[in-house]
Amino acid sequence: SLDVIKKNAYINAFTSLLPDEQIIEQVTAADKRVFNREPKKSIFDGRLVAIKDNIVTTDLPTTCGSDMLRDYVSPFDATVVEKLREAGCIIMGKTNMDEFGMGSHSTYSAFGAVERPRFPGRAALSAGGSSGGSAAAVVAGMCHFALGTDTGGSVRLPASYCGIIGFKPSYGLISRWGVIAYANSLDTVGILSREVWESKHIFQLLSHYDPKDPTSIPKHTRQVVGEALHHHRKAIDAKRSLRIGVPAEYNLEELTPAVRAAWEQTLQHLQTEGCEIVDISLPNTRAALAAYYILAPAEASSNLARYDGLRYGHRSLEDRSSPERGEILFARTRQEGFGPEVQRRIILGTYTLSSEAIGNYFLQAQRVRRLVQQDFDKVFALPNLLLNREAEARIEGVDAIVVPTALSRPPALQDVRAQSHVETYANDVFTVPASLAGIPSVSVPVDINEKGSPVGIQVITQWGDEKRLWKVAEMVEDIS
Ligand code: GLN
Repeated sequence: SLDVIKKNAYINAFTSLLPDEQIIEQVTAADKRVFNREPKKSIFDGRLVAIKDNIVTTDLPTTCGSDMLRDYVSPFDATVVEKLREAGCIIMGKTNMDEFGMGSHSTYSAFGAVERPRFPGRAALSAGGSSGGSAAAVVAGMCHFALGTDTGGSVRLPASYCGIIGFKPSYGLISRWGVIAYANSLDTVGILSREVWESKHIFQLLSHYDPKDPTSIPKHTRQVVGEALHHHRKAIDAKRSLRIGVPAEYNLEELTPAVRAAWEQTLQHLQTEGCEIVDISLPNTRAALAAYYILAPAEASSNLARYDGLRYGHRSLEDRSSPERGEILFARTRQEGFGPEVQRRIILGTYTLSSEAIGNYFLQAQRVRRLVQQDFDKVFALPNLLLNREAEARIEGVDAIVVPTALSRPPALQDVRAQSHVETYANDVFTVPASLAGIPSVSVPVDINEKGSPVGIQVITQWGDEKRLWKVAEMVEDIS
């Protein structure tokens, strides 16, 4: 791994790495455990793991890809990091990302852009974002698996561009304690790995109630919902085969031929595996994108208010003597510390929350969010038990939805840089609906045996139904 990292330094996947001696020391300790026949701490004991740089660690800085936090080292580990260490994982480095998670190509980083590991003789490609460093590190073989965060697609999109598995859990199942907030109501910790079974096991390792995270689902709810879902699933399985929903609204004109071909191939494969393919409608898909780009910046503008140059992070050194030092310090600090995309989002978010605009934008977007949630609840066979514990299953509904993750395969970095902001935002059209609804989704690579990288196909299920998600994802994985 250390060699691979050095050879592929051009992909710029890391913002910081644990020193070689410390990696070797931890690997040796794990090897010794095996040699001494000590019980393994977990199936991932001794594995190298990379962590997105907005998840805090005590031994390496946590920068969020920003100058604002360039030298910041957290006094504590995030709960997910703690869990991985307990499982014997070696946290070998922190991965590059779009500043504070805002972006889709990992080009908006104070540490320079990430590049997808390159095909010989071809142009530099986007690794996707904002967890592009994590995805690139996994596909390059620099680590065994990586953690990212997914607010509106930031794990699934890079997974799709890099040809690996990218999983976003149901909101509330994996602790966000120690994850630096972008948009709290949407933020989740996601997993980037090479195979579905690994993703499933890492999820099981990380999905636990955490009293430190106020949005973490309590033990009792996990148990009650888990049992009810199990009961509903059993009743459905006894009566019919798996039903896979294909929403008409995802069949966009902008879909590239390769993505359309991979999608069709996937559905055919699922059919030969005995699934029934069902046409469904999710009418608010397009509106979801607009709503996301109101809600996420609004929450971000409020979260990022804490970077004021006083408490921690960057502080501007100019104008120490000025009488208006307070205001100047605040403005200068933020001007110097935040990159252009973050500044743009803060301005957008502050505007949509202002008394003049809140009714037209923020409140409207919250209404759309509810409609998006209802779209999903109307098509799934399983009920949304978070909203109503007593709700019944509908046998005529679908068990999973299968759609592309992105409109195209990874674009050239050069083309990405020439895109307008709105064009870049449009990239997230297939990933934001599941984020707004808080439901689980996983992107699985499908190889259509043509030149170029595989295409990411997304499986989406009802809240808490990770069980079906893995099952369908494993079927999709079998195609390639
Ligand atoms: N591209 C989206 C954004 O910029 C998603 C980011 C994310 O999931 N962190 O907001």
